[in-house]
Amino acid sequence: MKSVALLHASQLVTLAGPKRPRIGAEMSELAIIRDGGLLIRDGKIDIVGPSKEIAKQAKDAEIVDARGRVVLPGFVDAHTHLVFAGNRLGDFERRSRGETYEQIAKTGGGSWSTVEKTRAASDVDLLAQAKRHANWFLKCGTTTVEAKSGYGLAVEDELKILRVMQRLNQEFSLEIVPTFLGAHAIPRDRSPDKYVDLVINEMLPRVASEKLAEFCDIFCERGYFDIERSRKILTAAKELGLKLRMHVDQLANSGGAKLAAELGATTADHLEKTDEQGIAAMKTANVQSVLLPGSVYALGSTCYPRAREMIQAGLAVVLATDFNPGSSPTPSMPMVLSLACTQMKMSPPEAVTASTINAAYSLDRGDKIGSLEVGKVSNFTIFDCEDYRELAYWFGLPQAHAVYVKGEFVL
Ligand SMILES: [Zn+2]
Repeated sequence: MKSVALLHASQLVTLAGPKRPRIGAEMSELAIIRDGGLLIRDGKIDIVGPSKEIAKQAKDAEIVDARGRVVLPGFVDAHTHLVFAGNRLGDFERRSRGETYEQIAKTGGGSWSTVEKTRAASDVDLLAQAKRHANWFLKCGTTTVEAKSGYGLAVEDELKILRVMQRLNQEFSLEIVPTFLGAHAIPRDRSPDKYVDLVINEMLPRVASEKLAEFCDIFCERGYFDIERSRKILTAAKELGLKLRMHVDQLANSGGAKLAAELGATTADHLEKTDEQGIAAMKTANVQSVLLPGSVYALGSTCYPRAREMIQAGLAVVLATDFNPGSSPTPSMPMVLSLACTQMKMSPPEAVTASTINAAYSLDRGDKIGSLEVGKVSNFTIFDCEDYRELAYWFGLPQAHAVYVKGEFVL
């Protein structure tokens, strides 16, 4: 039995608490232990407490000294588009020069250019690019990510992306939670209704029978998948045993949050334009809100979601990067913490709760990861700062010192 004793963390941010997502004032309770430590046996947390007590039990354990540094559970990023080919540097420069998204999309850019590159890439090439992205997440202190397909938009291409995730999960230390997002956009060569039929009759049955995804997601917006089409696809996904996440109310308040509540979705994501009624519906149906300030920032917008109202209403708020090549090219959860605090007026402890334990519950893994408690998988990151608030305060500065997954040093 391999054991590791982590000792002398200036702050061991445990997030110990009730065995459910945290709401309201609970989001500010991080259960910090000063000069804290962990005893890890076979990748699981065996004891959590003051270093003195851990040292007594350490015996022949390998010692990891975290003196002068904070230790947090590995970040859990509950919304990413991890697998894609290439980048969108051309779009980025054109946007910086003042062109609009519509202009860029009409003349060879936009998400369709990523679809073309992703379709053209071999699975080996796509896996190599995905590994590079996965390494970036680890470097920022993230140990679990949800990842969506959605740059294939055809049966075999969507399956190719999901199989790349499966291999990444087997070959790399970052844990991947796969989501099928075939309904990300309507491909140029299909009518909307024909594409909805393809998703329901061909893609979803294959994804479910090959067990390639745990969740099904959709881009629910006017001009993409409206409320009726979204209901149709997600109902079919639910019948096949997939849980639901949804992109809603990013461009307009089109009733997406209410549909998430009606369908019993696990999460509704984005929510930049969601109003009080949408928030109330989500609360009633226990839908978690996933906020993505990185995409608001990178698009140069100022319309952030109403995080304070959501916390006051009792939603179990989650923060995520929305990592993707077009609107949110960042894998950095510390950057998202900074945006949450400065732009959405979440407090540092609320932001940490939203990016660890609440995110873990939104991925149905709240009993395994997201906090440093006895019996949980020992995924944690040691940061080069003495106070966890420094993670959101010094922005643009990499502070991860060492990352551990299942008790093993990975970076
Ligand atoms: Zn997204």
